[in-house]
Amino acid sequence: MKLYSFLFLCFFYSAYAQQEAQYYQIINAISSDRLKDDVTTLANFGTRHTLSDTLSTQRGIGAARRWIKKQFDKISEDCQDCLEVFYQKNLVKKGSNSRIPFDVSVVNVVAVQRGTTFPNNYVIMSGDIDSRISDPNNYTDDAPGANDNATGMAGAIEAARVLSKYRFENSIVYVGLSGEEQGLFGGKGLAAFAKEKGWNIIGLINNDMIGNIRGVDGVIDNRSFRIFSEPTPPTETEQQRRARRYYGGEVDGNSRQLARYVHKTVQRYMPEMRPMMVYRLDRFGRGGHHRPFNDQGFAAIRIMETHENYTQQHQDIRTENGIRYGDRLEFVNFKYTQKLTAVNAISLAALANAPTAPKNVAIGGMVAPAATFRWDKVPGALGYKIYWRNTTSPTWDYSRSVGNVNSFTLEGIVVDNFFFGVAAIGKDGSESMVSFPSKIMR
Ligand SMILES: [Zn+2]
Repeated sequence: MKLYSFLFLCFFYSAYAQQEAQYYQIINAISSDRLKDDVTTLANFGTRHTLSDTLSTQRGIGAARRWIKKQFDKISEDCQDCLEVFYQKNLVKKGSNSRIPFDVSVVNVVAVQRGTTFPNNYVIMSGDIDSRISDPNNYTDDAPGANDNATGMAGAIEAARVLSKYRFENSIVYVGLSGEEQGLFGGKGLAAFAKEKGWNIIGLINNDMIGNIRGVDGVIDNRSFRIFSEPTPPTETEQQRRARRYYGGEVDGNSRQLARYVHKTVQRYMPEMRPMMVYRLDRFGRGGHHRPFNDQGFAAIRIMETHENYTQQHQDIRTENGIRYGDRLEFVNFKYTQKLTAVNAISLAALANAPTAPKNVAIGGMVAPAATFRWDKVPGALGYKIYWRNTTSPTWDYSRSVGNVNSFTLEGIVVDNFFFGVAAIGKDGSESMVSFPSKIMR
């Protein structure tokens, strides 16, 4: 080996090891005590219902969002103003649906950690501010919403605390969304805001209920969690839909690639966890704040506990037949919330360190014993990797690094028998999400 290439390899591997060490540092820095403190504070606002009081300093969604903003401001102070913190507001008109009985200002709290090289690329972690009880329009009675969704909100604040100690090439956004229970209004507002501002969203990881380990069916499990992702974007054209019949892609939309990315990152750095990809937008007939981002064509997924307890969500606080109903603080497992917050933090860090996924990936190889690829080079990428998998596999099981090129032929691989994609590789071995081909070469 020539000396300079040896030196390059030494440098590459030490940078790579450094990056690996950073992920373990991040995982270890997420604190269950701080998560507990924050979930407790949020639950103690009495109710955080979207329609609740906004003037009190003690109770209601106004007090809650001011407190959240204060946390982000404090984190920013500790990192030489590394966060841009602001309210993003949307006026929702009376009668927009049956859960909006009067005009209401739906206010999200946003904190942007600006990327050093690609400030307009965004990775987003969201939780929800608002809560509810049995009657979705009861905005006065106690609705602690400890698990749904103070856990997701506290997770976003804690991720900001930990990740603000580092610098990333792409921007990271930590956000508390409001109006979720009334009809996903906060997410809708922020997705429209992002679209209007021309944000290049790499992906959004929405956290909704990341604190319950005791299922209503009696199962206790603090290791598995669910990653929900829709198969293909709802914004695809009729032409794209028709092309899928011939070239594939039914289970390979941008959100699904994000789900696989998180799955892979967790398997690698948190092997004690059991991520479970669920191949659907959300739970059967139910919704969450990643959906409005999907509606705009952005990659967005939902992270959630595996075992729900229905006597502890959207319930009036009461005891009936010996069952303690309600979304109470005592039911949250903070060690589990810590794990799922770490899942987010390393996924955000990995995406914020990496180049974006290649665009215009084209594939060919009909009636040939080889598969051919071409793609647009990505700013900041030092190389590319072709991934493939059996058509029945949920994960990208095979890969080959192909260097800093914009086309490649995999000899001996028959295009018919696999699904393929291309990822960009950045410095320190960071990797983008996988791009599924969007073009055909003949
Ligand atoms: Zn809910």
